[in-house]
Amino acid sequence: MSFIELESVYKKYSMGEVTINALDGVSFSVEQGELCMVVGPSGAGKTTVLNILGGIDDCDDGKVRVGGELINQFNSKRMALYRRHDVGFVFQFYNLVPNLTALENVELASQISNKALNPVRVLERVGLADRMNNFPSQLPGGEQQRVAIARALVRKPEILILDDSASALDYATDAKLRMAIRNLDNAPTTFIVSQRAASVRYADKILVLDDGKLAGMGTHEQLLETCAVYQEIYHSQFPKEVAQR
Ligand code: ADP
Repeated sequence: MSFIELESVYKKYSMGEVTINALDGVSFSVEQGELCMVVGPSGAGKTTVLNILGGIDDCDDGKVRVGGELINQFNSKRMALYRRHDVGFVFQFYNLVPNLTALENVELASQISNKALNPVRVLERVGLADRMNNFPSQLPGGEQQRVAIARALVRKPEILILDDSASALDYATDAKLRMAIRNLDNAPTTFIVSQRAASVRYADKILVLDDGKLAGMGTHEQLLETCAVYQEIYHSQFPKEVAQR
């Protein structure tokens, strides 16, 4: 059995007469500690699938198993504990507390966990040793994102979900950060939503969503061979002649 298993997951949104099939029978599995990129066109269902996995949304049908437990059958109390102890979220707009320093933002998160890591160590790990006493407004976007990542990691989650669709990081920092997450002891199983094809090279697995369905799953090389949606996304950013260099 894999650490994470989704089996025929459906999610509909109804808006008046219109029904949107945000997820239309999605199934996949991911092993513990894997780093997965989630790619696909806007509206493909990336956010919906990760919100369901992170326990902040529920599905209409299907099974979502984490560590062998069916999380879509958790009651609200059990789900709150799952979100608190097992999942770290980094949202697109970071949502740092503006009147707390970087260190205080991370310390605050550490207080709701009984297995928290040392906040100073985690900030050092993401390359912010010199920035601990700065307020969010004194940090550029990329460093704010790293504070948000440290805040998620300090609780030692089993699953880290990072919405990187509006990434403020340059490629070199981005690569360093992914390696820092990856090299943590007991690295969380990580899902990164990214629009940037260059980031996929760090992934163990790439999930390609399109119109609420899983269009493909595999490594970059496998998907370039087999998945038309992936080829389109990749080559829209890296035209063939650039990618071949
Ligand atoms: P992505 O993250 O790939 O851009 P989403 O998961 O956000 O896609 O959305 C999938 C589909 O579900 C889209 O058509 C979106 O408009 C719709 N959707 C998402 N959330 C809601 C909501 N709360 N109410 C209505 N429709 C929604």
